[in-house]
Amino acid sequence: MKQFWLIMSIINQINAMAKHIFVTGGVTSSLGKGIIAASLAKLLQARGLKVTIQKFDPYINVDPGTLNPYEHGECYVTEDGAETDLDLGHYERFLNRPTSQANNVTTGRIYQTVINKERAGDYLGKTVQIIPHITDEIKRRVTLLEEENDYDIIITEIGGTVGDIESLPYLEAVRQMKRDVGSQNCVVIHLTLIPYLKAAKELKTKPTQHSVKELLNTGIQPDVLVCRTEYPLTKELREKLALFCNVDVKSVIEAIDASTIYDVPLLMLKEKLDKTILKKLGIKGIKDPDMTSWKEFLGKLKNPTNEINIALVGKYNELQDAYKSIYESFIHAGAANECKVNVHPIHSELMESVDPIQLIANMDGVLIAPGFGNRGINGKLAAIQFVRENNIPFFGICLGMQMAVVEYARHVMGLKNAHTVEVNPETIDPVITLMENQKQVKQKGGTMRLGAYPCRVKKPSLAYKIYGRQVISERHRHRYEFNNQYIDKFEKAGMIPSGINPDSELVEIMELESHPFFIGVQFHPELKSTVENPHPLFEHFVKAALKYKMDKNSHA
Ligand code: GLN
Repeated sequence: MKQFWLIMSIINQINAMAKHIFVTGGVTSSLGKGIIAASLAKLLQARGLKVTIQKFDPYINVDPGTLNPYEHGECYVTEDGAETDLDLGHYERFLNRPTSQANNVTTGRIYQTVINKERAGDYLGKTVQIIPHITDEIKRRVTLLEEENDYDIIITEIGGTVGDIESLPYLEAVRQMKRDVGSQNCVVIHLTLIPYLKAAKELKTKPTQHSVKELLNTGIQPDVLVCRTEYPLTKELREKLALFCNVDVKSVIEAIDASTIYDVPLLMLKEKLDKTILKKLGIKGIKDPDMTSWKEFLGKLKNPTNEINIALVGKYNELQDAYKSIYESFIHAGAANECKVNVHPIHSELMESVDPIQLIANMDGVLIAPGFGNRGINGKLAAIQFVRENNIPFFGICLGMQMAVVEYARHVMGLKNAHTVEVNPETIDPVITLMENQKQVKQKGGTMRLGAYPCRVKKPSLAYKIYGRQVISERHRHRYEFNNQYIDKFEKAGMIPSGINPDSELVEIMELESHPFFIGVQFHPELKSTVENPHPLFEHFVKAALKYKMDKNSHA
């Protein structure tokens, strides 16, 4: 008890002001700043600190909502309906805490705010410039979360790579912040790459030295180097990096390639990243991190007793990042079932020319992915018909659910020309249609039905069996909806609307009575699955696929 109060008083002391950690990237992109930031946050959270992470992206788009997934991977949607960078997904999955609009800022948003202020005359005749106006707005956004919550630590990931023209105003803002709040309250972690030269059989430090010099040019001396590497860093190499990059040797942290991103918090713990950071921030007397449940999860993930094959039918399958949260949800659900889930990406366009039997007959379950537009639509419909007729577990998300509705209307209810108006605006049976308030929408950015909405689950139903409760809340990102004019017809034909929005009456879940596991959801459950709380829909889908596989084998 005494220890508890001691910890509380220390926490209260540092509560006066949140401390800041910035994460920059050097040498190359895709080094995993988001994972390092999330891993550090996890360790600090496991020590009892209140931590959040935010991402600052240097591109001009106001948010990633209008970006093609090929450009930027999945667009992650928060509870409050912000369309954000996929790194926010990692933050939520690691920390098990929701993020919000304030956790993701882009250059577009910064400039939009400054220009709006300029138009309003707020700058009182001054020339509006990058320094101080843009940098002040960046600093205001960095501390925004501080005002609304009593965070002990705010981690800010700066997107892009040091040396990019676009990153300069952000680095300048970081330099100023370090000066404003003092180095005891603000540390900079530089994530860098130590490449291995096969011919020389050596790890090379030069790119990191250059990258740190580049950072120094902006006036920032990094406090900690996190070094991505394929091989362990020797003592000599650490010392060399420390000497040339002007950090103490304990601040050279090895980030060796891991078999799963979920290993990274433990690897960082071993390298004492959290301890080093706390020391630099002058935070003392904090308990050791309790990673028991994380280790349990990893134990299950790495020692599966079963294995299943799931087809992921989508049109962005060339790029795994486009379905990031779906892949991660399968990892959480797989671990919960102690089952290895092999996800097989199948391009929906391929399904249009190749017989589904060849592509999915050996699968234990099929997930039809979210998406936009008409490319690959017929492939999705063919896949759904096949799994429906062959009792293979089916899970449709957003467009996946909409296509399940179209397929059922066409092949079971005899509405041969049924379609979604997204693909055929002239269809005589618009089973998926636009809501009145969406018909007026002209601007594309931020105008879909976005964020968390409540849903009432019917009892009894498969959905109720899965959720175990009647009131749920899930996140949305779509324009089109099930057309309620057809609701009775579907119900009579055996496709049941088992989840309804209590306020708008919009259909959120559709399921088949006559099938062992056939469920489509208008929302995006993959956005709410975390290590601590695997999403029940994914968990039960994996369970159903496992059962399907067992039954198939016992009949073979
Ligand atoms: N294109 C569909 C809609 O806007 C589905 C969107 C999605 O799958 N996220 O309604």
